[in-house]
This record gives sequence, C-alpha cells and structure tokens, in this order.
Amino acid sequence: MYSLKVQLFAASFIALLGGAVSFYVISTSPVVGAAAFFLCFLLSFGILYFYIYRPVQKIQRFITAQQEAIAPQRLMVNSSDELQELSDSFNGMLENLKSDIVQMKKLERVRTEFLGNVSHELRTPIFSTQGLLETLLNGAVDDTRVNREFLQRALHNTERLNTLLTELIDISRIESGEMKLRFRFFDVVPFLKSVVDEMQTSATQRTISLSLVGDELKSIDIYGDKERLHQVLVNLIDNAIKYSEPKDRVTVAFHEKADTVAICVEDTGIGIAPQHLPRIFERFYRVDRDRSREVGGTGLGLAIVKHIVEAHNSTIEVDSLVGAGTKFTFEVTKSHSG
Ligand code: ADP
Repeated sequence: MYSLKVQLFAASFIALLGGAVSFYVISTSPVVGAAAFFLCFLLSFGILYFYIYRPVQKIQRFITAQQEAIAPQRLMVNSSDELQELSDSFNGMLENLKSDIVQMKKLERVRTEFLGNVSHELRTPIFSTQGLLETLLNGAVDDTRVNREFLQRALHNTERLNTLLTELIDISRIESGEMKLRFRFFDVVPFLKSVVDEMQTSATQRTISLSLVGDELKSIDIYGDKERLHQVLVNLIDNAIKYSEPKDRVTVAFHEKADTVAICVEDTGIGIAPQHLPRIFERFYRVDRDRSREVGGTGLGLAIVKHIVEAHNSTIEVDSLVGAGTKFTFEVTKSHSG
C-alpha cells in the first residue's frame, strides 16, 4: 500500500490528466471526451473512496462505539499507510487507558478496604471504653470489686487508640512521601545493643530471653536513618516477644558482608504457616486476629517495617516454621570508610 500522500497525489493527477485529455478529445469527439472524463473521475473517486474515506469512516465509527463500550476493543484497519499508523497509536492509547482504569479501580478498592479496616479498628476500643464508662457511671464506680479494673481497661483502650493513631499517621506519611528519611553514618553495633537493652524489660516480663549475637567489640558504620531503623527493630523484636511463649528465645544478630550488614531478628516462637507469609506485610493483615488484639497489635507494624526497609534500598525477608519460630532479615548499606 502506498502512503496517503501518494494516494492523494495519484487521485489529483488522474483528475487533472482526465480533465486535460477530455478537454483535448472533446474538441474532436465529444462522446470519447465525455467517456474519458467519466473514466478518470471514477478512478480518482475510487482511490479517494476506498483508501481514504472508508478507513477514516471506520476509525470514526470505532471511536463512537468505544465511548459506549464497557471493555474497549482493538481498532483494525487493513492498510499500511498513515491511517494504519493512526490506528496503531489509537490502539496504544486505548491500552494505556485500559491499564490506568484497572489501576484506578484497584486503588479505589484498596482505599475503601483500608477505610473499612480503620473504622473497624477505631470502633472496637471506643465502644469498649464507652461501655466501661457507662457501667461505672451507672453505679459500678462505687463497687470496689470492679471500679479499678474497669478504669484500667478503659485506660488500656485509650493506649491502644493512641498506638493505632500513631501508626496510622506513620503509614500515611510514608505512603504520601511526606516522611523524609534522614540518612547518616553511624555505628550499628552499639545501636543494636541499645535497642536490645531497651526491649529487655518487656522480654523479661514474658520470661523470654533476649540477646544480641555478634562481636560486640566490633565497629561497623552503616548509612541509614537511625530513628527509623530503631522503629524497625523495635517492631520486629516486639513481635518476636508477642508471638512467642514463655521460656522462648529471641535473638538479634548482625553479619558483616562486603557492602552491607545483614540484621536478623529471630525467635523460637509460634511461627507463621506458609500460606500467611506472603501477606503479613499488608496493612491490617494478622494471622490470628484475636491473639494480635490480645497482645496489643494493630496489624500495621510490619507494613511500616517494610516501607522503611525499602526506603533503605533493601528488602525484608521472612523465614518461618509453625511451632519452631520466625526469622526476619534485612540489610543496610555499609559506609566504605567503616
Ligand atoms: P500486629 O500488630 O498484629 O503484630 P504486624 O503487622 O506487626 O501486626 O504483624 C502482622 C502479623 O504477622 C501478626 O498479627 C502476626 O500474626 C504475624 N507475625 C508477625 N511477627 C511474627 C512473629 N515473630 N512470629 C509469629 N507471627 C508473627
């Protein structure tokens, strides 16, 4: 197939030639002249009609149909000129639109699901506090057997709300890109030691042994946001303690590699069944909702951990065996002078 320019040129040339020939012939034989004119007219009309008018009409009908279509189709124009190129670009544009719409619908679904989860999580402690306060006001406040306990439970609910709101704010700041990381160089060994020391009390309360494994005399400089990495470790150690039984062990370990330091938080706790592993980093996903609530979980901790680790250009890996324990590992870039 020739390009549109050639086809237009051919049609105009034939029309012009027809005019000239008919003009010339008409003076000698009007019948032959008229026939020559008619033939040229038919030829140029045919070119314009079949190669230009019909494909353009097809494109126009297709565009009109797409405005009402639920699932857009592909535009098929059998030609190899600029109209084919136009149809290819149009098909490309439709594909992009299609994937944008799919993405938008997915985001909309995620947003609705997230809002549903947030309202559910907020409602539970609010309703419970409301119930406790109402019972106290209706007379239980003077009943020395329950009044302190009810107040303690109300306080526990407000603490839960506070944790939930803090984590929600964190998640939204991370996801909107508002949370800026402050990278700097610091020695990872005393840092890990201080986090382990800080978590020692809550481990002891649950009779769980918590220790740091690695050469504590070493000095390894890493490049990261100290405050956010502290949040990652506290979350992982806290989970390891929460999802273990008394007498279990939690260890924090570090291994120096060529360019990075691998940090692991490992426990000998309840473990996670394989079908849950791919989903535990999702917001509000819990393996055992009741156990998570009981130990004060919000279902947001690992989602925050994942975001922070990824902002350090790393990934968080998890290995687990039900009844044997769980191990979370991530790496942080080393300072080359360190
Ligand atoms: P939560 O606030 O419920 O602890 P997280 O996002 O921190 O939420 O963790 C999601 C879920 O992953 C938890 O509810 C729990 O079921 C599971 N989980 C996380 N860490 C561990 C662990 N060390 N051992 C067993 N299960 C864990």
